[in-house]
Amino acid sequence: MIRDNALGIIVVMFLSFLLVSCGGDIDKNGKADNRTAGSHPKKEIIEKEPKEPIEVKQEISIAAIGDMLIHNSVYNDAKVENGYDFKPMLERVKPYLSNATISIANQETMIGGEEIGLSSYPRFNSPTEVGDVLKWAGVNVVTLANNHTLDKGEEAIQRAIEHWETIDMTYSGAYKDSQDRDRIRVVETNEGISVAILSYTYGTNGIPVPEGKDYLVNLIDREMIASEIKEAKDLADIVVLGLHFGNEYERLPNQDQKDLVQFVADEGADVVLGHHPHVLQPVEWVYGENGNQTLVIYSLGNFLSGQDEFYRQVGGMFKFYVRKTIEGGETTVEVHSPEFLPTYVRYQNWRDYEIIPMYQLTNEELPNAKERYEEIKAHMSMWLPELKFIEDEE
Ligand SMILES: [Zn+2]
Repeated sequence: MIRDNALGIIVVMFLSFLLVSCGGDIDKNGKADNRTAGSHPKKEIIEKEPKEPIEVKQEISIAAIGDMLIHNSVYNDAKVENGYDFKPMLERVKPYLSNATISIANQETMIGGEEIGLSSYPRFNSPTEVGDVLKWAGVNVVTLANNHTLDKGEEAIQRAIEHWETIDMTYSGAYKDSQDRDRIRVVETNEGISVAILSYTYGTNGIPVPEGKDYLVNLIDREMIASEIKEAKDLADIVVLGLHFGNEYERLPNQDQKDLVQFVADEGADVVLGHHPHVLQPVEWVYGENGNQTLVIYSLGNFLSGQDEFYRQVGGMFKFYVRKTIEGGETTVEVHSPEFLPTYVRYQNWRDYEIIPMYQLTNEELPNAKERYEEIKAHMSMWLPELKFIEDEE
């Protein structure tokens, strides 16, 4: 009993103490002083807790498509009264391209415009409306270093760049002068993640680069690539390289591609977007000499072209995510979760060109559509079984 009473007294004393200490915040009129009651004691509690590291996590997605190779059958099909309308061709892939934070396209043919004469293989010049439709579909960056960059000389490149600037499209790999070339392209996103985009080609179909104007097209030059990756790494969170290389129509990368990819991985490139073979080549992670990882797609295939064999009509949208974490004053940036959307360029009698996500294809649109799609999926994921395939409207 005594013990119980003693405990009771202690409890009463403790409750009184609590009342008194809280009472300090009640003013003469009996109203709670919000300033002291609300902020002062709370502040004290926070100060007594151990300091938590400040953590910021941001994420963006990047999408990339392969060759925009505009043959005459494609631009003739797009002809309308006042120019060219390519929108119906990209209508079904627009939702996917628009959904990514940054979308990158490889514009293989220069969009020098009608004024200097449109042309097809072997020396291309395309309508400026090709640029407009990419913009409309959600593309924000074009890579221009291709074997067809010099097809119509400096004039087509300069006119094309003028149009890219008019529509506010970031371009990389072909430039108007050396000053323009020296400015590494970095896309700053609202999420606070910056992405540098570099672009190089193996060659220019035997057309010599005009004397003293090597800014017109970036050729693959290991020394230049290494120094630009280094510069880009200082300017941006991640470095994405467009490499126009490989053998046409080969479904697997050759040794030269693998060697160059290993070289850029060793130099610290984060992502390689390959193109030129006009067919898809697989995705894989390559390890750089410093233990870094480089995400590689060896070839994105044709995204839009007039080519007419099944594998040349198949291309796709490669997508991946970039996560930036700031923790305890340390920033880490991680490329992760690669995905792929295989696409197919359908047309009939060289008309009604349309890029269709392969998972949506019916047997009427492509005989054995399902089988064909499964084979493409197996091919793309052969070195990366966890590669995801996009199979719904984004
Ligand atoms: Zn090419």
